[in-house]
Amino acid sequence: MTRLLLRDCRLVVTMNDTGSEEPGLSILIEDGFIRRMERNLDVEADEILDCRDLVAIPGLINTHHHLYQTLTRAFPLSEGKTLFPWLRLLYPVWAGLDEDMIDASTRTGLAELALSGCTTSADHLYVFPPGSENFVDVQIAAARSVGIRFHATRGSMDLGERRGGLPPDNVVQPIDTILADSERLIHRYHDPNAGAMTQVALAPCSPFSVTPELMIESARLAREHGVRLHTHIAETVDEDRYSRNTFGSSPVGLLDRLGWVNGDVWVAHCVHPTGDDITALGRGQVGVAHCPTSNMLLGSGLAPVRALIGAGVRVGLGVDGSASNDGNDLRNEVKQALLTARVRDGVTAMTAREALRLATRGGAACLGRDDIGRLEVGAAGDVVLFDAAALPLAGGQEDLVAAVVLGASRPHTVLTHGRAIVREGHLVTLDEGQLAAAQNTAAARLMDRAA
Ligand SMILES: [Zn+2]
Repeated sequence: MTRLLLRDCRLVVTMNDTGSEEPGLSILIEDGFIRRMERNLDVEADEILDCRDLVAIPGLINTHHHLYQTLTRAFPLSEGKTLFPWLRLLYPVWAGLDEDMIDASTRTGLAELALSGCTTSADHLYVFPPGSENFVDVQIAAARSVGIRFHATRGSMDLGERRGGLPPDNVVQPIDTILADSERLIHRYHDPNAGAMTQVALAPCSPFSVTPELMIESARLAREHGVRLHTHIAETVDEDRYSRNTFGSSPVGLLDRLGWVNGDVWVAHCVHPTGDDITALGRGQVGVAHCPTSNMLLGSGLAPVRALIGAGVRVGLGVDGSASNDGNDLRNEVKQALLTARVRDGVTAMTAREALRLATRGGAACLGRDDIGRLEVGAAGDVVLFDAAALPLAGGQEDLVAAVVLGASRPHTVLTHGRAIVREGHLVTLDEGQLAAAQNTAAARLMDRAA
């Protein structure tokens, strides 16, 4: 049995049902789970961390990403493009992906996420060029090396240009290939138990790159195996137009027709839902991965997050692919969520605590988990500690929660399942310099291929 004691935390921000925040609590983590949370807790442990200056929050949860895109961040020619032309420019580049590139980019993105306080991340890998048979397996191994919880979504595209879709035909796959690989990955990797480090979900990419048949068959397969479903929806005005012209309904209306407005689904974006769409998503208990930086960078718009929450939608946060954000900083995305909500709906639209709740409880709800996103006895030992005595929080002692959301930079310590993956602001599971070098080599090879 491994025991870790976080002794005398300056403040514990539990994100429990009542949102309690307690000064002076100690947290005992045994074999990956929180066993005790008490004041003046004096027990034997393998490691005791003096937390008198540290603020503890639950590990942050990233609900939407395309990690391979860390290889093309800030891609020069993509500047100033909206989603469709941006994708048309990048699909042919991404067609050159190989296993080494997937490995380097997955480690890079997840390492950066960990350094920002993220302990669980989903990823949506949907580009499968020839030679990509083990891309998701490579990703799962890479996530284990970083030490982060990983929800691999087996993405898919079966509607290429020849049949009226957006992506080129060399990056789409036949339905049978997609479904067989999806089933293989579920059997091999999906862990439904509390404390799971790896889960699998199925994720047809978007209305403009998949057929309705793939959506229906993916949902059937996912429900047969009890795994979740993910896709992009209502991201841009262009997508809304495509959906109305092609299917005669809004993107969310299409989802509803395909049996996807359901509690086992979380979708990315939802920037342009109608009032009826919002009502339907709330009634269906759908999750939404809100990705404010990506939506602003691509000029997609500001999602109506306040209205979505009000309707009962489970809203989490995502940094989205690092070619439409260019960073992997989930703590910063919490701040972006607060800022965009206030720009859109006024200064009372969101508090710092509400923004933090999106990245913790909201993310857990999107991923269908109740063992993460909160600091309570019985929950997993995913804890992020910020140094209240360090410069970014200096002068912010009166409200340390708001100070963390609005001002904190790198966390001091990040624990996933009771294991430190970040200490003193640095990754301990992998070498940051070697990671960056491997990533730059992989990115240069990808660019050579594209040229
Ligand atoms: Zn995305």
